[in-house]
Amino acid sequence: MTPDLWLETHSYFKPLADLSAQVDRAVAEINVLDARIPDWEDYRADFLAGVPLLPSTAAAVDLEPGGRMTEALLERLASGTSSGRLAAETRALDTELRREPQISRRIADFLLGDETLRPPFPGLLRYLAWTATARFLRPVVNAFDRWRDEEQWLRSYCPTCGSVPAMAQLVGTDPGRLRLLSCGCCGTRWRYRRIGCPFCESPGDHRLSALAIEGEKCLRIDYCQSCRAYLKTYDGEGSETFFLADWTSLHLDVIAHDRGLKRLANSLYEL
Ligand SMILES: [Zn+2]
Ligand SMILES: [Zn+2]
Repeated sequence: MTPDLWLETHSYFKPLADLSAQVDRAVAEINVLDARIPDWEDYRADFLAGVPLLPSTAAAVDLEPGGRMTEALLERLASGTSSGRLAAETRALDTELRREPQISRRIADFLLGDETLRPPFPGLLRYLAWTATARFLRPVVNAFDRWRDEEQWLRSYCPTCGSVPAMAQLVGTDPGRLRLLSCGCCGTRWRYRRIGCPFCESPGDHRLSALAIEGEKCLRIDYCQSCRAYLKTYDGEGSETFFLADWTSLHLDVIAHDRGLKRLANSLYEL
């Protein structure tokens, strides 16, 4: 199933697809600032202790340039002539944030959980800032993927930024099929146990129950009987950017919500 074909049969996603494309176009036009690749040996002890890369003082990855890229992205989106909701909200955000001293630093801290920045449309800022910062971080995330021994992590939170997973993906063929968890913020994918719930990590390695979705070949909901949390799962390979984008499976969140299941992942745009 290709993204284009899929969108044809999911026409109600058109506004979101347009919004996402608009942001992707704008972010592709801003300058990518250089990210320093950390010295992995400095970080090893923290990694083994379960400290994600970005909060690790030993790894010392500075996110501030990601904040500057966010400023540039906001400026670009705000300066357009479009009169849509995205343009109006980014203009309000841009105007408000310009009043803050050292805003690039504040945005970087905001992404790592600092709550002292209180922007209008925090969900939109989180979405735009992670989009710009993920682009800034890409060389670091790629180098981290190459260095990281997945067997030594297998944790339920993102090894790069510490977020809980937005989605999961099943890859390979049985036997030896693997489950990856996917971060909706920085875009890292990492390995996790094939069975078991990443949210409550309840003992006994109980299986998640799978909920098939009518008309979806490669998306389903896996949920935990014990804590009622759910994990949207992409059962396929090749269209990760699209099917792991979170918004492309928003209808699964609606179904899960109707069944009384809990979403524990951050929602980037509070959609
Ligand atoms: Zn992450
Ligand atoms: Zn659970």
